[in-house]
Amino acid sequence: MYQDLKGKTAVVTGSSKGIGYAIAVRFGQEKMNVVINYHSDPEGATQAAADVIKAGGQAVAVHADISTETGNQALLQSALDHFGDLDVWVNNAGMETKKPTHEMSLAEWNRVVSIDETGVFLGTRTALAYFKQRGKAGNIINMSSVHERIPWPTFASYAAAKGGVKLFTETVAMEYAPDNIRVNAIGPGAINTPINAKKFADPQQYDATVKMIPMARIGKPEEVAAAAAWLASTESSYVSGITLFVDGGMTLYPAFKDGRG
Ligand code: NAD
Repeated sequence: MYQDLKGKTAVVTGSSKGIGYAIAVRFGQEKMNVVINYHSDPEGATQAAADVIKAGGQAVAVHADISTETGNQALLQSALDHFGDLDVWVNNAGMETKKPTHEMSLAEWNRVVSIDETGVFLGTRTALAYFKQRGKAGNIINMSSVHERIPWPTFASYAAAKGGVKLFTETVAMEYAPDNIRVNAIGPGAINTPINAKKFADPQQYDATVKMIPMARIGKPEEVAAAAAWLASTESSYVSGITLFVDGGMTLYPAFKDGRG
């Protein structure tokens, strides 16, 4: 637990399920106020808000499409209306589409990029403008992926968007460091969430994924949430512009394990 997080207000995009849900509940355990954002799952968002409150925080569930300017503005406004301030903004919402690149339509490409990359820009800009206007230190966390570093055939739009998030995070971290606004990314590996439910339900695909992880297991959403809590807290006060990989070693070139190569 991080004492300095108590009473602070966070927006967590895409937090009705998966990693976003785990971050929201962890922030609840830290006694924070959380704006839960959902796009297509009002029941999940209501449950997430109840779980944050049960954990010791405060919460409100807000519908918004984070690929739009109005959606991000509505999230900021909800934080201000319900909790009177904003301290932490987590750009977590994301999606992926599997398609050979030569068959991918422009609409399919744009959909992934508009959520995974432009959505991160819009959320970051919304938070930055507020922090600047108030002259306050702020904290932004972008959910990237091991695929900001590892190429992923048939997921080119996703890898391109996450690669963009990496350099966007580094650039904005440098741009706003003089304002004491910290901007970091988290790079999860294979985490057990709804985005992977179909893949991990197939024992062959599950085993194939585990083989790519030196720690030989799939990660839990709570393990990603722990990294978010640390980055949000003053325990990481001198950290900005990094991607903190939470991946069981997936980015360590596991093909070389046992001295192969
Ligand atoms: P998930 O599918 O369980 O959750 C993603 C959430 O984003 C959903 O609630 C979805 O409704 C929301 N969302 C999608 N489009 C939205 C929009 N336009 N507006 C608002 N919300 C929207 O997936 P997850 O595994 O929890 O993924 C969360 C983040 O972590 C994503 O950015 C994903 O790319 C990243 N990530 C996940 C893994 C993994 O293994 N699960 C690995 C690396 C990175």
